[in-house]
Amino acid sequence: MSSPRQFFVGGNFKMNGDISSIKSIVTHLNDAKTDSNTEVVIAPPALYLLLTREHLRSGIEVAAQNVFDKPNGAFTGEISVAQLKDSNITWTLLGHSERRVVLQETDEFVARKTKTAIDGGIGVILCCGETLEQREADKTIEVVTSQLSAVAKTVQDWSKIVVAYEPIWAIGTGKVASTQQAQEVHKAIREWIGKELGEEAAKKTRVIYGGSVSEKNCKELAKEEDIDGFLVGGASLKPAFVDIINAKA
Ligand code: PGA
Repeated sequence: MSSPRQFFVGGNFKMNGDISSIKSIVTHLNDAKTDSNTEVVIAPPALYLLLTREHLRSGIEVAAQNVFDKPNGAFTGEISVAQLKDSNITWTLLGHSERRVVLQETDEFVARKTKTAIDGGIGVILCCGETLEQREADKTIEVVTSQLSAVAKTVQDWSKIVVAYEPIWAIGTGKVASTQQAQEVHKAIREWIGKELGEEAAKKTRVIYGGSVSEKNCKELAKEEDIDGFLVGGASLKPAFVDIINAKA
């Protein structure tokens, strides 16, 4: 039976790249044969959003790595949803663990930003995930669902939210979660969505996996019933990103 959810692959460039390397990634993607059944979104650093949008072919969307929860005003260093829309940037990442950990973003702040983005009409790749200590203490599902609960308190329509499950111990470490570990958490997230937001939302919400995804492990992960795509960091900067986009092809 085919999935009711379109496969989704995001590329998170983080704070990497420059004008020249980002142009060459974009050119590579423009020329690549990518599975038309997969939705693709790339997230360059804020400074290069416009450049990326200008050079990237239509059919691939561009995401910011963050957005602020206020409409405009005296918020030095921040970018608003309206400014993203004005620049044709249709998605944003939110709640990435690097922001939760390094910049100390709370679940509530992530939830406020998610609400502002969704109300403003842009899609959100909403990241969640546990530390190694939390996994070892058997707290994975509790941690992940409480991160998501903060959002469910203020946003009821999740049709423009893609949940990215990213175990912190797997990010940038080369230690990918096993297919069973990932599937187990994805299934639990889907059950939680069903309970909190209804069966229709559970059926339709994409839950993607992130954490050391590569061209080597993506096909196995993509076979799991509740893994609807990937959020890719390091490998999204390499030509092999195309193989990950085509994991289902
Ligand atoms: P990684 O990063 O693929 O380099 O592990 C994933 C992410 O942080 O989104």
